[in-house]
Amino acid sequence: MPESSHILIVEDTKFFSNIICKAVKERVGASVVPAMSLAETKAAVAAAEKPFMLALVDVVLPDAENGEAVEWLLSQSVPCIVFTGIYSEAMREQLFAQDIIDYVVKDSVSSIDYMMDLIKRIERNLTTKVLVVDDSSTVRRYMTDLLRSYRFQVFEAVDGRDGLRMLKEHPDIRLVLTDYHMPEMDGVAMVREMRRSHGRDRLAIIGLSAGGDGALSAKFIKYGANDFINRPFLREEFFCRITQNMRVLDMVETLTEMATKDALTGIHNRRFFFEAGHTLFASAARDRLTLTVAMVDVDFFKRVNDTYGHDAGDVVLKAVAAELRSSCRQTDLVARLGGEEFAIAAVNMNDADSEPFFNRLRIGLQSMVVEHEGVRIPITASFGVFCGLCDSLEEMLRQADIALYAAKENGRNRVEVIAAVAEEAEAEEARCVSELEPV
Ligand code: GH3
Ligand code: MG
Ligand code: MG
Repeated sequence: MPESSHILIVEDTKFFSNIICKAVKERVGASVVPAMSLAETKAAVAAAEKPFMLALVDVVLPDAENGEAVEWLLSQSVPCIVFTGIYSEAMREQLFAQDIIDYVVKDSVSSIDYMMDLIKRIERNLTTKVLVVDDSSTVRRYMTDLLRSYRFQVFEAVDGRDGLRMLKEHPDIRLVLTDYHMPEMDGVAMVREMRRSHGRDRLAIIGLSAGGDGALSAKFIKYGANDFINRPFLREEFFCRITQNMRVLDMVETLTEMATKDALTGIHNRRFFFEAGHTLFASAARDRLTLTVAMVDVDFFKRVNDTYGHDAGDVVLKAVAAELRSSCRQTDLVARLGGEEFAIAAVNMNDADSEPFFNRLRIGLQSMVVEHEGVRIPITASFGVFCGLCDSLEEMLRQADIALYAAKENGRNRVEVIAAVAEEAEAEEARCVSELEPV
């Protein structure tokens, strides 16, 4: 849990306060401080050892019936999400006239869900970088203040060119908000340039401009923006649009993660191994580097399941995956191909080093203390290694699999290596032998 996840909950109904405190603790994982009145709110802020990430505040309190608690918290720079029992347009306007993040009507279970989702988003914003590109310092200041109240990390640029420079300097910026008319380079030209390096799956861009020019919004979107907001905008709309765009980015990220990672162990899956492996193979072939491929298979794994249960088997698989991942270099590919079978692809490992390296891995696996429900599960694994390069990654894996088969045949818990050079020499020898043989 990040240091800053400390939340103040200002609500005078004990029942509702308890529900919210429990939900925040359990579903967000944040620490909470409840307060029942304006006086308690002031005392809580004074006593807090670290600043509150935000406050959830009821508008009507016994000693502050007209939102004075919200006003006071905002004056202390504590971002507020307001909740009310009643909804009215006048109330909405009065609330958004102040710099609140959002308001929620507490009328159903879904409003609790909405609130928790909102808190999680704000928490994510703490590590999310946003770039504001506008030539007007007044507009920049306004937007920057607004975005900071949502807890984003905000960067500023004065025109398109400056925007490109900022993105280059901070390539992990996830959201860009840009004006259209700017000296040096306009917003659309900048978006076009940004899209060369940052696809829609990793950077959201929202265009902004004054006066409902439909053609301009279309132009922005055609050249790569995700969305467009007309100025002047309502703060509420601004926040909703940003949240919506960030949510889409997060969803894409989750889908990518799901498509490339193994659900049980969290390391890469078979699909990713072949995708990334082909790139690795191509660059190794081009630059005449060595590539080493290993297949790792847990010994008698069926027995683990039969003896200790399937859940224990899963614990073993997770432990093996974690050990393999942490023992290899960051640049090595480590994946679960399926079942209790793993694969490793390492670039530029000396042939002479590969056998000792995989033997250390083997011993590492054997020495792991894997426990399930207090019972230690002994495990070993066999390794089939192929080093050098041959025609394709698939062929290398086939050779590694042959080596793995030999390791199993020769007693398990061992490493067998086949080297490309040795293969060539063997083929040569075979040719010589066949030439000597009578026809
Ligand atoms: P060997 O030493 O020859 O490799 O024997 P083995 O028992 O490890 O090999 P075998 O292929 O006979 O058994 C593999 C077992 O792995 C069978 C299957 O039920 C189990 N398995 C496959 N995927 C999973 C999984 O995700 N979780 C668990 N717990 N077991 C799995
Ligand atoms: Mg096995
Ligand atoms: Mg197997």
